[in-house]
Amino acid sequence: MKMKLKKGVAAYICAATVLLLVLIFSCSYKPSYETVYMPISSENAQIVNSIMSTTSTIDYSKGFLSRFQTYPHAVSQNVTSDSSSQKTISDFSSESEYYEDAEIIDETPPPVAPPQKPRRQVTAPTNGIVSFASDDWSPNDWSYRDIFVGRNVECTIYTVVNNISQEGDESWINLITLQNTYGYEIASHTINHPRLTELSQDQQKFEIVDSKKQLIDLGFDCKNFSVPFGDYNDDVINIAASVYRSTRISENENLSSPYNFNLLKTFWIDASTTIELQAAIDAANINNSWCILSFHSNSYDDIADMDKTVGGCIDYAKSKSGMMILTIDDALTSLGAPAAPGV
Ligand SMILES: [Zn+2]
Repeated sequence: MKMKLKKGVAAYICAATVLLLVLIFSCSYKPSYETVYMPISSENAQIVNSIMSTTSTIDYSKGFLSRFQTYPHAVSQNVTSDSSSQKTISDFSSESEYYEDAEIIDETPPPVAPPQKPRRQVTAPTNGIVSFASDDWSPNDWSYRDIFVGRNVECTIYTVVNNISQEGDESWINLITLQNTYGYEIASHTINHPRLTELSQDQQKFEIVDSKKQLIDLGFDCKNFSVPFGDYNDDVINIAASVYRSTRISENENLSSPYNFNLLKTFWIDASTTIELQAAIDAANINNSWCILSFHSNSYDDIADMDKTVGGCIDYAKSKSGMMILTIDDALTSLGAPAAPGV
């Protein structure tokens, strides 16, 4: 009985000591940096931009920008600088100055982009070109990717930057895998998918120019643009032409030389337009010109449906001897278009 009591007291003292040590440690423990993960949005992009502008002397080769570049949803305050003349995070009065609007949603380590496979060599066309373009970046672009990947064909995804999510089918890791592993082209379709003609010129610039910057920051070779809702005016086209190699609008027409790369027309893939689409492919094949076929993957309820229509068009183009199926950007290279202007 005496022994039992002694044992009980010893165990109690031991547990209390451990608890005390844990308490002391947790009070004094201050992590050297914290990582804040945010869903990407225009507001968050503005937070990042404001951090960048206030801390313009920070060495961007490390700290949050390099982390931001490897993972779109991570903004870290692990900002360091080598020179004493440069600001560090401690020069700012409080963390909340930076992260006021940030929502901490996850602290798992960021995924790592797969290595990028080299682009294929592109030659001038001899029997026409067909390009496939999917607008918006929707879950089915990822979940139905076998329609393209299984046929060894590459698609251009005109991406709405705000559709890139942290997890799920529309995640950044899936999109960068389509580019790096499967050779897809990731192009811009604005940040928020607005009607561009209803915006001020500054807002248009934000949607058109900044979407390119953001996609490049996220690791995408963004060189081309498509207009949401096919809604454009001269300002939209001029702003887009200042930073992109091409702009795709929504009008239904085959393309032919001399090409206007600032107004690329397209046909829309739909189950009811098979004959029209086959005629467009035939015309590009016969005239050695370019046919762009666009679609929205989210308009298909299942993979069999999309395989019948989109896959059917791929098979038809493949049945034409010597016809090339290229991304928008590879088609532009094949046709000798000038390189994309810088941002
Ligand atoms: Zn769209």
